[in-house]
Amino acid sequence: AKERGKNSYHMFAPDLQKITSDKMFIQNELNRALALGELTLYYQPQVNAKDGAIVGMEALIRWNHPERGLVSPDQFIAVAEETGLIVPIGEWVLRTACQQNKEWQNQGLPPIRVAVNLSARQFLKKDFTQMVASTLEATGLSPQYLELEITESTMIDVHRASNTLAELKQLGVHIAIDDFGTGYSSLSYLKEFPLNRLKIDRSFVRDMKKSPGNRAIVSTIISMAHNLELNVIAEGVETDDELAFLQENLCEEVQGYLFSRPLPRDEVTTFMEEQKRR
Ligand code: C2E
Ligand code: CA
Ligand code: CA
Ligand code: CA
Repeated sequence: AKERGKNSYHMFAPDLQKITSDKMFIQNELNRALALGELTLYYQPQVNAKDGAIVGMEALIRWNHPERGLVSPDQFIAVAEETGLIVPIGEWVLRTACQQNKEWQNQGLPPIRVAVNLSARQFLKKDFTQMVASTLEATGLSPQYLELEITESTMIDVHRASNTLAELKQLGVHIAIDDFGTGYSSLSYLKEFPLNRLKIDRSFVRDMKKSPGNRAIVSTIISMAHNLELNVIAEGVETDDELAFLQENLCEEVQGYLFSRPLPRDEVTTFMEEQKRR
């Protein structure tokens, strides 16, 4: 029995230890990344579904790691959330995205929105609205050119969320519900909260051609949004068929590889200038 106990200990312990140290390792590394400027933003165009005009750019974080190269957010956002590092990281994202959008406007490009992803932890912090207001002031970006993307799970704390949303509306920034349809929250918040846009999750857009169920969900989300006077953007649009279906159903905006992958800052300028010349 002693033998077996020892063996099972050996089978179990190293894994547990590994998980903990991985998390601490990533946490240390992330701290360093933030301090040394290894975090960077990519931008993915959001376009008008009717005429293809660029209406916005979604800021998507990347970690430019000295050894591992470009690391995707799926590999570090969860740890950042657990450790609370998402708060300073999120502030950095917001400031950088607002600064960048202001810079594009200063370069004479047509004004567009910049969309910033927020984690619940960040959004539900006490002075969140104040932080957004001072970021807008410091960067000189008008609030109408900032859109904040929150998920349904952020709205589970209904009281907190509704207070913050009211303050943000007062401030003049736009709010989109990201990954709409994938959360398990009730729909009742849709009529109560001051929202601007629903963002249809890629999982519904992706298999529309094969799946009548997905087509039904997509067209229903769009008409429900319109009945509630909300706009709709579809994410993950990859094919002409998908675009055609979304256009027929009067989805206002689209985003996905069909138009562009997320681009590093310098390629955005080129992309927008080409668009302007059309
Ligand atoms: P998300 O907000 O749902 O972002 C959409 C993801 O889909 C992005 O992945 C984007 O690159 C990818 N994508 C866009 N178009 C297409 C397409 O046509 N086909 C396919 N297959 N994929 C497409 P990414 O950049 O890896 O970001 C993953 C997630 O990480 C985001 O999902 C978001 O939840 C989170 N994230 C990214 N940046 C931030 C940030 O600054 N703060 C926070 N809190 N989360 C972030
Ligand atoms: Ca998003
Ligand atoms: Ca999304
Ligand atoms: Ca998604």
